[in-house]
Amino acid sequence: MLIGAHVSTSGGLYKAVERGIDTGSTAIQIFNQSPRMWRPTAFDEEDFATFREKMADSPIDAVVIHAIYLINPGTFDKELEQKSLTALTHALTVGDAIGASGVVLHPGPVMKGQEYGPTTENIAKLCKKALAGTEKCKLLLENAAGKNAVGCKFEQLADLLELLGGDDRVGVCIDSCHSHAAGYDVRSVEAVTETVDELDRTVGLDRLGCIHLNDSRDEYASHRDRHENLGDGLIGRWPATTSPGCPKTCRPQSTMAPVSTFGA
Ligand SMILES: [Zn+2]
Ligand SMILES: [Zn+2]
Repeated sequence: MLIGAHVSTSGGLYKAVERGIDTGSTAIQIFNQSPRMWRPTAFDEEDFATFREKMADSPIDAVVIHAIYLINPGTFDKELEQKSLTALTHALTVGDAIGASGVVLHPGPVMKGQEYGPTTENIAKLCKKALAGTEKCKLLLENAAGKNAVGCKFEQLADLLELLGGDDRVGVCIDSCHSHAAGYDVRSVEAVTETVDELDRTVGLDRLGCIHLNDSRDEYASHRDRHENLGDGLIGRWPATTSPGCPKTCRPQSTMAPVSTFGA
């Protein structure tokens, strides 16, 4: 399994690789632009080339991009929909340019007054457009913590995969804090095994492209999303690496090599 840190790109895209090396990472995650702003960072071919060269000379074998938080793919607001599509397409384009293993996206909430079905159809439609406008970078839909957030149940991630026609460019990212918050226990080796089995039954482990390892400040099944440093929260001493479920997620035949990143 490749494992590593979420690192900053401040000072240049390639700086992320240096920070990955400094943290002993074999995989890194980055934001392709400031996550709370719409304005994209204007990278050019040279930025991408330098990044790829640095990666090739480093022990880091995978980079994952986290899409910005402002994207709301299930929105019914036309302007927000357009901005979301532009931002997601941009993230996938950067992903193509740097050979990223995937772009992680929060499917977003079911907005007040809206319903689950039409919201998920919107999400799928927007994702399809972004995928069609880009080449090969995968899109990883992240599980969520909140009750109204699409993806707080693994079945909802499965619904999205189905709406996306089983496209092999689409997979999932599982965040341990979100899992804990949503009522998928990861507090012991046995619990992790059960949760992984549940993910396999619903989504299929061959769709797992990335794991976010975060501890939580909140109680189990609280539906609250407040991250804590590993080992310092209510999930406690991280059990995943010793879990019998782990070899499953690390299956070399997986079409999506799992990448684990801490944070974000
Ligand atoms: Zn979170
Ligand atoms: Zn996330």
